[in-house]
Amino acid sequence: MALPPSARDLTDDERELVELARNTIDANTDAQPDEDGVHTMGAAVRASDGRMFAGVNLYHFTGGPCAELVALGAARAGGAREITTIVAVGNHGRGPVGPCGRDRQVLFDYYPTVQVIMPTDQGLRSVLITDLMPLAAVWAVEGGTQPYNPAIFLDPSSG
Ligand SMILES: [Zn+2]
Repeated sequence: MALPPSARDLTDDERELVELARNTIDANTDAQPDEDGVHTMGAAVRASDGRMFAGVNLYHFTGGPCAELVALGAARAGGAREITTIVAVGNHGRGPVGPCGRDRQVLFDYYPTVQVIMPTDQGLRSVLITDLMPLAAVWAVEGGTQPYNPAIFLDPSSG
């Protein structure tokens, strides 16, 4: 399968972020192997100032947040305003897992230049969120869902 145009190998900083997410869920999952649990995913985000923040999911049938959203909240609580990279890792050695549809929309709306670390058929890759949301509409706090804007999907790294 062809990967999105922005997909690239991980940097050392990105590998460090994967390890933080992995260590966070390994240390804090409440599920034994092959059991369901409340905390089964870890996530880590890197802020533009280089700091890293971690989170775990808080599963609940009413819609408890994914680990990615908890990590984003932790970053904000720590004063981080810009996020450059995000990754989620499953418990019990499941490795990085791509973000669900809800997380993709949140990232797309709030951090449209974020790199997402995810598994592909060619191994782990770092991919721009806009490449994970083809033809998506932006939602904004002011004004709600916005008209489709093709300029959003231009790769900022292509100048
Ligand atoms: Zn999710």
